[in-house]
Amino acid sequence: MSTSLDLALRQQQAVYWRNHVLRTHDIAAVTPAAIHDAAARLQRFAPYIAQVFPQTQAANGLIESPLQDIAAMQKALQQVTGRLLIKRDSDLPISGSIKARGGIYEVLKHAETLALQSGKLSLNDDYSVLAQNHWREFFNGYRIAVGSTGNLGLSIGIMSAQLGFEVTVHMSADARQWKKDLLRQHSVIVVEYDDDYEAAVASGRSLAAQDPLCHFVDDEQSTDLFFGYAVAAERLQQQLQDLNVRVDAEHPLYVYLPCGVGGGPGGVAYGLKHLYGEHVKPVFVEPTAAPCMLLSIATEQHEAISVADIGLDGKTAADGLAVGRASGLVSRLMSDRLHALSTVADDDLYRYEALLWQQEQCFIEPSAAAGFAAYQMQMAQTDTPATATHIVWATGGSMVPEAERVDYLAYGMSLLKQD
Ligand SMILES: *Cc1c(COP(=O)(O)O)cnc(C)c1O
Repeated sequence: MSTSLDLALRQQQAVYWRNHVLRTHDIAAVTPAAIHDAAARLQRFAPYIAQVFPQTQAANGLIESPLQDIAAMQKALQQVTGRLLIKRDSDLPISGSIKARGGIYEVLKHAETLALQSGKLSLNDDYSVLAQNHWREFFNGYRIAVGSTGNLGLSIGIMSAQLGFEVTVHMSADARQWKKDLLRQHSVIVVEYDDDYEAAVASGRSLAAQDPLCHFVDDEQSTDLFFGYAVAAERLQQQLQDLNVRVDAEHPLYVYLPCGVGGGPGGVAYGLKHLYGEHVKPVFVEPTAAPCMLLSIATEQHEAISVADIGLDGKTAADGLAVGRASGLVSRLMSDRLHALSTVADDDLYRYEALLWQQEQCFIEPSAAAGFAAYQMQMAQTDTPATATHIVWATGGSMVPEAERVDYLAYGMSLLKQD
């Protein structure tokens, strides 16, 4: 890592770093075929999902979000070239964040494995039978656990409880009270820690290891989570076609993804790279207080380095992004696949969140607005073609209670007024 980048990260400046790591680290278990397998599994579960979560019926039981133009926002950001779209994972059904992709997928895969092993389910069955009481009792003999800053816990907790599993969420100190309350309403066991995300995960992982009937969803290492996220890519391809967006050498696609431990943005980026190759340019964005993926990739040290090693405390208001150490699996896979990595100050998250609300009447949580900062930095690069399409991946928001929304927006508006 250059000394100037090192210094900028230590001083918590907002940075844009063009990735020049070319070393590839492919991982045998991660293949395009594994993503097709995940997509097929989600199709098998679609009749079940449509039955137990009626809000997914219009999409025939698929958990998917809209892709839409935000021309007013683009204008407010004073950008005149290219086309700006938002991917509204903030509105994903069931848990209202990008975690509804990977988290729910891993729980479903585990449930399917147990059900198939029991001999009472076969691949060609209509999976809506899994909503029946005898299946809920069957799953109740098994446990699921996860460590989380909040949103992953919501996904895993709600989905596991719905199937009948006994589920425990190990939550770091920064997790919001309303997320703990909501989980307890779903009969999820919430264990609270006075420590950060890495510690909550480590404790949850070691407790689960002592229990043969417990499956631990490992955000730092799981390939299943990764595949669940990666399925987004082929669905996005269809949505882009529906909006008449071409992706080719003349019309590259820039995708701005907020990054925590890495699985969500990494899965999406991996899937898109497989479909579009060099014509897609994924750009990750992290809080200035917790640039763990940028550090991992720029130093090529992967999980061997954490933000504490450069004097940062990892404390940020950005839910889901307060992560000090990146997933080594993801940092390796992303090393030669990312176009750039960037960082954003917390206050800017509130500014973009409020501006989006003002311009488009679209509510997202502050961390989910990080992509706008990356977009602005990318647009400032002289080699960004005027014919490009840009997607800001809005990773969460619809579950945020009204009282918190009002506070977030009021703070964001006050910052905009001062500018
Ligand atoms: C979890 C999360 C992310 C990032 O996902 P990772 O897999 O942790 O990198 C981004 N935005 C929100 C709102 C999240 O909850």
